[in-house]
Amino acid sequence: MTINDLRCDGCGRYLASPDETVRFTFHPGVPELRDDSGLACSPCWSRLTAGHDRDAEPGCCASCPAPAPRRQSLHVRRSDDPQAWRLCAVHAVEFLNSLRTVTPKLDPATFRFPGQ
Ligand SMILES: [Zn+2]
Ligand SMILES: [Zn+2]
Repeated sequence: MTINDLRCDGCGRYLASPDETVRFTFHPGVPELRDDSGLACSPCWSRLTAGHDRDAEPGCCASCPAPAPRRQSLHVRRSDDPQAWRLCAVHAVEFLNSLRTVTPKLDPATFRFPGQ
């Protein structure tokens, strides 16, 4: 593990203590493409997931009423919480593009889920 692994994916701040660190994991409906290296400080996690309703209707986007079928959505969860929520393409791109480690940024016009 390098020092880079301990920086917040939102603001880039060095995360010194596990208490202020939220680990998160996400995949685009294809478990082999899971990324479980997400790290954020608590304020950034709140900002990144603002508007995400973790108790949204199953099969729906957590951020809007759009359907979010299993292989056409981004599945997001905190590493310490087994309950994931789903994001439609629009909100998946918004979420991913707000992560510092996602480069180059995704183009919402051409974005497709790999399982689509
Ligand atoms: Zn942060
Ligand atoms: Zn949505």
